[in-house]
Amino acid sequence: MQLWLLPSPPGAGENDKACRGDDRIGRENKGMRMTIKEIMKAIRFSARLEDVLVYNDRFAKYEFELTEPHRLEFLAGQYLTIQVSDKGEMRAYSICSPPAIDHGFELLIDHQPNGVGVNFFKRLGLNPAQPQIIKGLGPMGRFTLVNRLGQAEVDEQALVLVATGCGVAPMMSVLLDQLQTKGDQRPITLYWGMRKAEDLFWLEDFNLLVDTYANFHFYPILSQPTPEWTLSRGHVDDLLVAHDFIPQTGFYLCGGRSMIVENKQLLTDRGILPQFIHHEHFF
Ligand SMILES: Cc1cc2nc3c(=O)[nH]c(=O)nc-3n(C[C@H](O)[C@H](O)[C@H](O)COP(=O)(O)OP(=O)(O)OC[C@H]3O[C@@H](n4cnc5c(N)ncnc54)[C@H](O)[C@@H]3O)c2cc1C
Repeated sequence: MQLWLLPSPPGAGENDKACRGDDRIGRENKGMRMTIKEIMKAIRFSARLEDVLVYNDRFAKYEFELTEPHRLEFLAGQYLTIQVSDKGEMRAYSICSPPAIDHGFELLIDHQPNGVGVNFFKRLGLNPAQPQIIKGLGPMGRFTLVNRLGQAEVDEQALVLVATGCGVAPMMSVLLDQLQTKGDQRPITLYWGMRKAEDLFWLEDFNLLVDTYANFHFYPILSQPTPEWTLSRGHVDDLLVAHDFIPQTGFYLCGGRSMIVENKQLLTDRGILPQFIHHEHFF
């Protein structure tokens, strides 16, 4: 079942703006930091694996249908914690499907880390035809454009989304929500850093959004391109240095910790105020 890119005309809905950055504190489970408030608002759910879309050796999208409850309200950019072992070990995964689809959710999994979490998903994917039920808790996280009341805490005139690797997962949810569901007219730019052209599993999806929404701009950048690659080469920071941004642009960074630290510093050095820089680090 392909949940995305439903035919919904642009222009409907409100023009959501930004909220503040990620300053979570509190309990930890392998890199997940949740506030007590978040834990209290998250609900326990179970869901059935519907399909697995294998993009390449490394990345796959797992599509789930909720079984209990049947609907889950979440904000684009939030994540779920999934029970990945009988011992109750949990791992966090950003929802990559848009909130408009609330009867299920999709997770983009990077198979490279190969620990208990990744192996849980690999085993699920081995036989998607058999009913496979997972359990989890969510939604969680504040890597969102608005808070739970639907309010932006900072007035942002443009959005710049910066992702490396599977850090692009919450960006897909945000883009579909802002462009398709809410008809956001602000300039929205996505920088997506990967190593090789074959890693760019959502290239066609993002190009389709570029063709559909005049305010959306997309810059894939490769660190190990072949000579045939005609677009940007290097790392996402090369683009953040080279490009100009209008005042009050909100920057949303997602990926590994080192990328985030480096780019937050770069943006700060360019004079971007901290309230306009938001991040989610996966590892
Ligand atoms: C808020 C949040 C959202 C997340 N969303 C996603 C998501 O949408 N998709 C996804 O695949 N993962 C996501 N992660 C990472 C995920 O929670 C697990 O850490 C990951 O699947 C590895 O778990 P594991 O048990 O297989 O390996 P572990 O044994 O937990 O980790 C093995 C090693 O790999 C490192 N690592 C974890 N992820 C990566 C990575 N992508 N690339 C390189 N090294 C890594 C860990 O830091 C550790 O050193 C998210 C993490 C957080 C905190």
